Amino acid sequence: MELRSKVALVTGAGSGIGRASALTLAEAGAVVGVLGHTRSELEKTAAEIEAIGGTAVLLEADVADEASMRSSISTLIETSGRLDIVIANAGINGVWAPIDDLKPEEWDQTIRVNLRGTYLTLNVSVPYLKRHGGSVVVVSSINGNRTFSTPGATAYAATKAAQVAIVQQLALELGRHRIRVNAVCPGAIETDINDNTKVRGKDETAVPVEYPAGDIPITGGKSGESEDVASVILFLASDQSRHVTGTPVYVDGGQGLLR
Ligand code: NAP
Repeated sequence: MELRSKVALVTGAGSGIGRASALTLAEAGAVVGVLGHTRSELEKTAAEIEAIGGTAVLLEADVADEASMRSSISTLIETSGRLDIVIANAGINGVWAPIDDLKPEEWDQTIRVNLRGTYLTLNVSVPYLKRHGGSVVVVSSINGNRTFSTPGATAYAATKAAQVAIVQQLALELGRHRIRVNAVCPGAIETDINDNTKVRGKDETAVPVEYPAGDIPITGGKSGESEDVASVILFLASDQSRHVTGTPVYVDGGQGLLR
């Protein structure tokens, strides 16, 4: 129970990596604000947390909407009294398409959720972290940091690279407040994120190189599980990583090294 008496906020907590992280942090003793924009999914995560004896605070919000983010953080503070850990996880793959086919509104939507969403998550929560210090973990990706070979994923890769820049910039800015800021960069993880992906013109954008089959060395090609990312998030959220800040941690089974 290394997070006993801590309060955490997890965005995109209704599925995938967010759901696994919310459960892992709750198991370690944290009260968890489960934030997302689909109430039915959040209710399931909250029920799972309560089933293991934890405490969840359900926060329905669009991460890119300032008013709903402010009201969610107020609810979490009113209910739980403090904030120690922020996991900025909500994100979409968006549209993957050739650059001359990608529509401005498609570009904007990926930037809106992944970047404005990350910015707003930190903008509304950092004032509370400044009270006692804390830990921020941003869920980035190998895309845009270690690999650039996902066909048409220019907008997505740009947001994921920018998230690591944000982490490094803020590690310095917030260090004086005893707030650590790190990123996890997952490789392929088995989640429902493909539901949030639209691919067009793949033949035009695919990288014309054949990679060996089974390109995740540590699993013989099998994608990772959300829990593989959640356990690194627990490490970064806890005092076990007390001297780690401004660091992207690759959680990709070595996948990104092959590219
Ligand atoms: P996921 O299961 O689709 O989870 C994303 C969560 O974010 C969903 O619960 C989604 O809710 C929520 N969300 C999306 N837009 C939102 C918004 N505007 N406001 C509030 N919540 C919103 O996918 P995942 O794979 O766990 O993705 C989590 C993070 O991991 C993302 O940042 C992604 O880029 C990153 N990542 C994933 C992989 C992978 O292979 N899976 C690899 C590298 C990085 P709805 O489902 O209701 O829309």
